[in-house]
Amino acid sequence: MELELGFDRAAYWARSGDLLQEFELLSAKVGAEADRDVLGRDAVVVRDRAVQLLVAAGRIVVDPRERLRDRPRPRRGHGLRRRVLVEADHLRDVDARELRDLVRTLTRERIAPRAAEIDASHEFPWDVVELFREQGIFGLLFDEEAGGTGTGTLLALVAIEEVSKVCATSGVILAVQELGSLGIKLAATDEQKARWLPQLASGEWLPAYALTEPGSGSDSAAMRTEARREGDEYVLNGGKRFITNAGVASLYVVFAKTDPEAGHAGISAFVVEADTPGFRLGSKERKMGIRGTTGYELVFEDARVPACDGHTDAT
Ligand SMILES: Cc1cc2nc3c(=O)[nH]c(=O)nc-3n(C[C@H](O)[C@H](O)[C@H](O)COP(=O)(O)OP(=O)(O)OC[C@H]3O[C@@H](n4cnc5c(N)ncnc54)[C@H](O)[C@@H]3O)c2cc1C
Repeated sequence: MELELGFDRAAYWARSGDLLQEFELLSAKVGAEADRDVLGRDAVVVRDRAVQLLVAAGRIVVDPRERLRDRPRPRRGHGLRRRVLVEADHLRDVDARELRDLVRTLTRERIAPRAAEIDASHEFPWDVVELFREQGIFGLLFDEEAGGTGTGTLLALVAIEEVSKVCATSGVILAVQELGSLGIKLAATDEQKARWLPQLASGEWLPAYALTEPGSGSDSAAMRTEARREGDEYVLNGGKRFITNAGVASLYVVFAKTDPEAGHAGISAFVVEADTPGFRLGSKERKMGIRGTTGYELVFEDARVPACDGHTDAT
């Protein structure tokens, strides 16, 4: 497919940087039929790949009021690609190979130059979170009903793999978005899903997954944290450790024993929002690598969360 982009109608604009130079670079990489001379006129014909890459990298924003004047040539799959471009909703319609290229371009341009600094500084990279939010990358981990792309596990893994190649901390941010959301996806009620999943799919909220304790790792049944039912609430007491995203998460999926005699079967998961009274962070975990991720102990001292009947047994 080829696109005729009308420069004169301001159908797109550069968000930052030197669009022309960047365009040429990408065009050369993907073999697009465009060069500076063509770009100098008031319209340009380019092959779709370069445009897709620029859209994905956030360099071109397609203005829905000024639809691109496209001139599709009859080609297999062209319908999908056209939607990708004109709706700027690119991630819903790409296949694994295309997604790999899109994420690769994004990470090499925007994350790789920061990776060493992120690890050396021990600081959580909120700018990377913001990038994932802007580009809809968190949405790859969620179904469409939750506001995600609904594109499945393979594409999510492809994205995590590409990000991790340039920055392990940034890869962990995506992986923990899934890990921390999984309990809600699997076992929450519809009401709970509606409350939390869209905020997780957009990346507005980051989650944490809290299973490990000082005395229980692989053997999770040895956990000591307990949740006691009191009327319409559960009251949590105990502690967790090694919890990734602690301190940056808005919600924590916390595992606790509701029936200590029942071993694994006596464990339930609770969503504890970060501002829950009785919940606080303990000591910071010191790490040898992947140091931009955060890790803390968690402390629960009569932390109260609303009881919710009707959830699913996801064991
Ligand atoms: C950087 C980092 C981030 C983490 N993030 C999180 C998080 O976000 N949330 C969370 O809940 N946890 C987190 N953890 C904890 C992690 O999941 C645990 O470290 C892991 O489950 C192993 O538990 P453990 O360290 O207590 O080791 P143990 O369970 O004590 O195991 C020690 C060793 O014994 C072996 N072993 C254990 N049981 C057996 C057995 N029955 N037979 C033979 N060998 C056995 C293990 O394979 C291992 O080699 C994190 C840990 C780290 C280091």
